[in-house]
Amino acid sequence: MRAAIFQGPGNVRVEQVPDAALELDTDALVRVTAASIGGSDLWAYRGYGQRQPGARIGHEFVGLVEDVGAEVRTVRRGDLVLAPFSWSCGVCEFCLRGLTSSCVDGGFFSEPGHDGGQGEAVRVPHADGTLVVVPRSLRGAETRVLPLCDILSTGHHAAVSAQVNYRSTVAVVGDGAVGLCAVLAARRLGARRILVVGHHADRLALAQEFGATDIVEGRGQDAVEDVMARTGGVDAVLECVGAQGAWDTTIAIAKDGATIGYVGVPHLVEGVDVSLLFGRNLAIRGGMCPARAYIPGLLADVLDGTLDASPIFDLTVSLDELTDGYAMMDDRLALKAYVAI
Ligand SMILES: [Zn+2]
Repeated sequence: MRAAIFQGPGNVRVEQVPDAALELDTDALVRVTAASIGGSDLWAYRGYGQRQPGARIGHEFVGLVEDVGAEVRTVRRGDLVLAPFSWSCGVCEFCLRGLTSSCVDGGFFSEPGHDGGQGEAVRVPHADGTLVVVPRSLRGAETRVLPLCDILSTGHHAAVSAQVNYRSTVAVVGDGAVGLCAVLAARRLGARRILVVGHHADRLALAQEFGATDIVEGRGQDAVEDVMARTGGVDAVLECVGAQGAWDTTIAIAKDGATIGYVGVPHLVEGVDVSLLFGRNLAIRGGMCPARAYIPGLLADVLDGTLDASPIFDLTVSLDELTDGYAMMDDRLALKAYVAI
């Protein structure tokens, strides 16, 4: 089969690899119908992180079940399924309390020894604990459910972690795909006011379509002053970048007693000064999204049409054109690429 291989910074290629196949009785073999390029794929492409040349890449995919192991009970051949970016057993202490990202036997698609999402097929470990069946009528409309694999679940995790509710004035820091999904999630939880801080006019316009009430275009001290002038500080900050500048802004615009929900993968972060939090009783919650735990609840709203992140996909590529998808996202000519397989 063919799958994407990370060859080093700036170099992702689609190559012939061994066919994905069942290995354990709890596995499923999924024929991928649609995938996407995620933020962490892009960070690898830019040369950050631990990914070694020769590694697979991609962790967002939807596909048809082609085969299942003898112990698999909840998915069958022919089902259209969605996978979160990590697999999880569904029965350990952490899975049972909804922290599937900490599963004792979990892992990440495209990690060494495992298939990635950007390829023709994937062996899915712990199929029962991992996969979610979606209506087959979504075949051809996978852009509606693909965001659940990572970005929409992650945006929701930011909002839930920051305890967003109908009384909240919320600020979303970051106008990337996760930030835009965090706007959707904050609106879904009923936030009365949603500010979004970013510096890409087209993405901020989409944020407004998604329910942002205030657009703050800028960064650093200018953005802080703008948010403070509008609100006097916000109840909930959704940190969706993971860089030091975003953290500085996040802490500066939080009102005393606020909760910060952070989901930006930390990169180039020197540290967070706890003494800045102490006197103001700022709480920090969040981290890696336990996407599998959130997907069933979010899927219901996606299926009834009240939650739609699909406008985030502004580029469609084939597997053969995958390299172009990375290059365009790297150059910020595309927000998020949909890979039709
Ligand atoms: Zn588990």
